[in-house]
Amino acid sequence: MIYLDNSATTPIHPEVKNAMLPYLMEEFGNPSSKYYSVAENAKKAVKEARNNVASLLGCHDSEVIFTSGSTESNNMVIKGVADLYADKGKHIITSKVEHPSILETCKYLETKGYKLTYLDVDRYGRISVEELKNAINEDTILVSIIWGNNELGSLNNMEEISSVCEENEVFLHTDATQVIGKLDFNLSNLPGITFLSSSAHKFHGPKGIGATFIRKDQYDILTKITPLLHGGGQEQGIRSGTLAVHNIVGFGKAAEIAYTNLYSIIAKLEELENYLIQIINDKFSNQITFNNDSNKKIPGVISVQFNGVNNELLVKQLAPLIAASTGSACSSSKPSHVLEAIGLTIDQVRSTIRFSLNSGIGKDELDVFREL
Ligand code: PMP
Repeated sequence: MIYLDNSATTPIHPEVKNAMLPYLMEEFGNPSSKYYSVAENAKKAVKEARNNVASLLGCHDSEVIFTSGSTESNNMVIKGVADLYADKGKHIITSKVEHPSILETCKYLETKGYKLTYLDVDRYGRISVEELKNAINEDTILVSIIWGNNELGSLNNMEEISSVCEENEVFLHTDATQVIGKLDFNLSNLPGITFLSSSAHKFHGPKGIGATFIRKDQYDILTKITPLLHGGGQEQGIRSGTLAVHNIVGFGKAAEIAYTNLYSIIAKLEELENYLIQIINDKFSNQITFNNDSNKKIPGVISVQFNGVNNELLVKQLAPLIAASTGSACSSSKPSHVLEAIGLTIDQVRSTIRFSLNSGIGKDELDVFREL
């Protein structure tokens, strides 16, 4: 069986596993404790991991707040900004193709009296920067826009979105879960991004660990938000709870591997994607329609309609040979809101399958498609 659902999650890299193991066993200390060796070793390991994550993101290590993943980071930023800046305004802008952890949080805030704008997207799932500009008003406290879409792979123009938010002095959060480790970017070149969500399990790290980037201001102070979790004050008081050292170490190792090999990972994903598209085209030519753009996208994500075929049935039939999905693993029971937002009919949505690759796949493994 070939695993082609890497947008849902990825296998842990063997080096990540090896880096984590000591912190599940002999190095079990709490990094908030002091003086004795297992605590100091845990503290050192967390520091090193934080540095690796910061290098990958292009930020300062004190701007990395460990969380349990992107669902938590997305909740933390949106609710945290909404709560602390409600006096300034109660308007938040997002898009129609965000992950449920954004959309459901926004819906919740609507019940609390916040005003939400859900921007439309083009046929590939990108927002219009012009529409974003027009939507910002004096009540706007936050813009939250997904960087790379989890179903289509399309990239929003984050440089322009960042500039617009900076010019308008409004906080910008981006859900970067799907682009990390697959896109060359540096947060120091995108000063308009104040918050970013990331998750280790999307790039060969463990599940249940991620980070929120929170930018420091000109006085070297982290942008303030109301914490989601109150408690012992870990993570600069923004995210309390004993640090999951083993997971953080795994996240750090995955970040180090992604950072060191970024260009070769991207090149490999592009090569595999082109190869897979070619095979699918050869094999199914007039029975398929690609939903995604061929450029300005996350490499290795393909969204394709098998005309007239029920996607749920096809994914099930393929399962012994190919692990794929009908779209997002987080909303697999409902028809995709992303595909509806790009204008597909319900029949087109229900015939769409997503194949998402990882750079460890051998080209010849994809030849299984020729045998279907
Ligand atoms: N945002 C996006 C774009 C995602 O793809 C996912 C994972 N499906 C999440 C958020 C949630 O991430 P996590 O699994 O770390 O909670």
